[in-house]
Amino acid sequence: VPAAEFRAAAHAAVDWIADYLENPAAHPVRSRVRPGDVRSALPASPPTHGEPLDAMLRDFHATILPGITHWNHPGFFAYFANSGSYPGILGELLTAGLNVNGMLWITSPAVTELEELTLDWLRQLLGLAEGWTGQITDTASVSTFYALAAARERAGLDVRTQGLAGRTDMPRLRVYCSEHAHSSIDKAVMALGLGHENCVKVAVDEQFRMRPDALEAALAADVAAGYRPIAVVPCVGTTSITSIDPVPAVVRIARQYNCWVHVDAAYGGVAAIVPELRYLLDGVDGADSMVVNPHKWLFTPMDCSVLFTRDPATLRQAFALLPEYLVTRTPDATTNLMDYGIQLGRRFRALKLWMIMRAYGAEGLAERIRHHCELARDFAGMVHFEGGWEITAPVTLSLVCFRHVPAGADEATIATVNAAIMERVNARGHVYLSHTKLDGRYTLRLAIGNIRTDREHVELAWRELRDAAAVVGNAAS
Ligand code: PLP
Repeated sequence: VPAAEFRAAAHAAVDWIADYLENPAAHPVRSRVRPGDVRSALPASPPTHGEPLDAMLRDFHATILPGITHWNHPGFFAYFANSGSYPGILGELLTAGLNVNGMLWITSPAVTELEELTLDWLRQLLGLAEGWTGQITDTASVSTFYALAAARERAGLDVRTQGLAGRTDMPRLRVYCSEHAHSSIDKAVMALGLGHENCVKVAVDEQFRMRPDALEAALAADVAAGYRPIAVVPCVGTTSITSIDPVPAVVRIARQYNCWVHVDAAYGGVAAIVPELRYLLDGVDGADSMVVNPHKWLFTPMDCSVLFTRDPATLRQAFALLPEYLVTRTPDATTNLMDYGIQLGRRFRALKLWMIMRAYGAEGLAERIRHHCELARDFAGMVHFEGGWEITAPVTLSLVCFRHVPAGADEATIATVNAAIMERVNARGHVYLSHTKLDGRYTLRLAIGNIRTDREHVELAWRELRDAAAVVGNAAS
């Protein structure tokens, strides 16, 4: 492909991205394609002869775009809403252009050094003490897997050499998290060979926070029964409701049982950038590791998860392996990031995060996150004061759990009605919500985290929800 052709197509693509981000709401937020539509519209086999870049851009607009659900849309309130931002996109573009592999310091010194520096900036923004170091992974699921691998390593059972299978010389290992912990904790436990039943779910209080007394009781009972607890995973911002587990109490109890403490702050952690929300990470300085995801609520394009640890030596012990073909003669002070996880090859993800921090500054980031929390409180107020609607969980950050409760309806009817309301709203294309269940009660979720979301979008969501409730109610009567 000639450089001139690339230049023209890339300029057109950048122009399109700028136009798109000026008004993502021109598209329906949730894709309307049916299963198979995208694939069947494209040739089943690759072309024999090369095609011009223009042809691909045409297909991108005609066929790919309709199959896109727009996470950049200000009406995206499902799951945990996220968004890319201009500086982040610029970083991604340059990363693709450079296409370096930062597996070793020498294979691109700036990749390692910028990653270390950027994550130290993030550490400072979050108000963590010195002594934490970070690495970027693709997702919180992988960050948590690494943290729990380090916890297993610290248990001193020589799993690295002997593995787990068939061993009669060691107790069953266990990991503890709350009933509301994300499934990535279960997956990590499974992938580490501990067995799913050894991911113990600790009971929560009325605000869906892990109960320290229940944690203590579970640890004591398990030790008495011959299990070996290796890690506790409190969460700052659970997936369903953004409840905040009591990290200081968890750390205190976990220490008594020599457990690694890994804090899952994948979504909620970045809120500590807001000075008045810094308390969210109280106690974390006593933990061993923490994951935060800039690709969730820090306006960083997918993907970018950060695993912080205060014990990089144990993480390294779990993963470092040096075949001859990777031996380099670099000074001792250099870090080779391949030593701290499974992956060898490493994308230059730090560039986009560094650019975001520079473009917005600490105050700019805090202002946006704070605004999202205000919008959530406003939305919760509207729901709270409307007859026939209820808030179903405390609003701790930028997520609101709520539902319509028609007079006299039982749980089954409430679930059917709210599912119908959600589907109706989502199908209209202006806003997109998702749901969860809390103690078996069907609940809608409005998650605010998109850099372009403002009051008007939240008000629109509320109008659409009330309109949908009226239609669904009429249809039922
Ligand atoms: N932890 C929490 C609290 C989450 O809410 C999520 C996803 O929403 C994850 C972990 C997993 O994130 P990822 O998709 O980066 O693996």
